[in-house]
Amino acid sequence: MSRDTIRLPHDAYRLLQTLRAAGHSAYVVGGCVRDSLLGRLPGDWDICTSARPDEMKALFCSQRLILTGEKHGTVAVILHGKPYEMTTYRLDGSYRDHRHPDNVQFVDDLAADLARRDFTINAMAYHPVRGLVDPYEGQADLHHRIIRCVGNPTQRFQEDALRILRALRFASQLSFSLAIDTENALFEQAASLSYVAGERLSVELEGMLCGQSVRAVLLNYAEVLSVIIPQLHTMKGFDQHSRWHIYDVLEHTACVIENTPPEPLVRWAALFHDAGKPDTFFRDKNGIGHMPGHPLASIDHLRKAAKRLHFSRKRLHDLELLVRYHDDHPAPTRQDVRILFSKLEENRELFHTMCDLMRGDALGQAPFSHKRVKTIDEVEHIFDEMCSEGACLSLHDLPITGKDLLELGVPEGPQIGLLLSEAFAAVAREEIKPQREPLIAYIKKLIHMP
Ligand code: ATP
Ligand code: MG
Repeated sequence: MSRDTIRLPHDAYRLLQTLRAAGHSAYVVGGCVRDSLLGRLPGDWDICTSARPDEMKALFCSQRLILTGEKHGTVAVILHGKPYEMTTYRLDGSYRDHRHPDNVQFVDDLAADLARRDFTINAMAYHPVRGLVDPYEGQADLHHRIIRCVGNPTQRFQEDALRILRALRFASQLSFSLAIDTENALFEQAASLSYVAGERLSVELEGMLCGQSVRAVLLNYAEVLSVIIPQLHTMKGFDQHSRWHIYDVLEHTACVIENTPPEPLVRWAALFHDAGKPDTFFRDKNGIGHMPGHPLASIDHLRKAAKRLHFSRKRLHDLELLVRYHDDHPAPTRQDVRILFSKLEENRELFHTMCDLMRGDALGQAPFSHKRVKTIDEVEHIFDEMCSEGACLSLHDLPITGKDLLELGVPEGPQIGLLLSEAFAAVAREEIKPQREPLIAYIKKLIHMP
């Protein structure tokens, strides 16, 4: 490897130098080394060092530090607004709960620290003068696009079940395959995923969902993932018996996910949008499958999963709206755009996310679904036009308010809201223009005023 392959940001370089000048050994390590060797831009630069937390704190006392990880050997220093984590070389103690080491033990040498890391491609360290330290042939695995546990995979997954999901997350993000013994152990140990805390599961699952090979990972490892999301097991192989669907529910779902932008909200929505299909399925006398009301059934599954995965209230609420209305078929008219917008509680961002989901859904159905994609493009275009011309998209955009109605003599109370809704409905139907005068005239007519 040429030493130029890894270009440290100036701040990371300075941190290594300061640690070295104080007599400690220090390297950049893990994800940043892996990503640099892959020619990807690393998200963050982690440092491992022989310095103990107290020594790091003393060395960087003039900088802003974050000390929440100190017990595990991590001191983060903020340079130019960016945190750099520096962690003392350490061994992890035994793992009684399949997730957290019972204790960590600081050590002096890098080799022991690399041995505790999850995969060979994540167990490399680099220093600009000393070069690459790669005791587990991570570089060769990068070259062959393979995820392989460091050491005995069964033991490594038993120690920390989250690694099972991390393996799938990296497989999806990097489009890598699992080494055969790693894969065998992963299947064998899948049940222990149930020990992992919801927040950690959802971080890794989200990374997996947003990866470029999510479709293959979902299809190949549905049984493993169904330990956390049991619906996947039911969706797998569920034939829809419909000419609109060439795939079973799981494959359709995987295909929809793949055909949406790699953003968490739409990808979670895609994962659950049809989870309720098996519950509502029946075949008519011609043998054709129907799944009436499946979006509502899907919401039930979404809620169960949200509990397990500790979704925020806002996340769950947005997902419910997306799943609830994903099967609407708006026509490319201003009226239908307004209706969909109001169903989505007048949330502009969600409207675009819904268009992404509907397009993905269409592309995941049958090869002749391009007509639907075109319609959704038109719907979104009309929405954009209406936004940019300041059209009246919601009740709040009306150029009259409750105050105007009070002035007309309407008594305070629920009637005000009802009249405004009626006025907005008339605007939405394009019966009247969203201007003050016609609106006031319309209200007057409603309350029988001359
Ligand atoms: P990303 O670029 O997505 O952040 P990463 O490899 O940096 O990927 P992190 O979660 O930031 O992932 O972890 C940093 C490093 O710590 C990993 O590269 C790996 O060496 C080690 N590591 C993280 N989690 C585990 C784990 N559960 N078991 C063993 N080693 C781990
Ligand atoms: Mg990282």
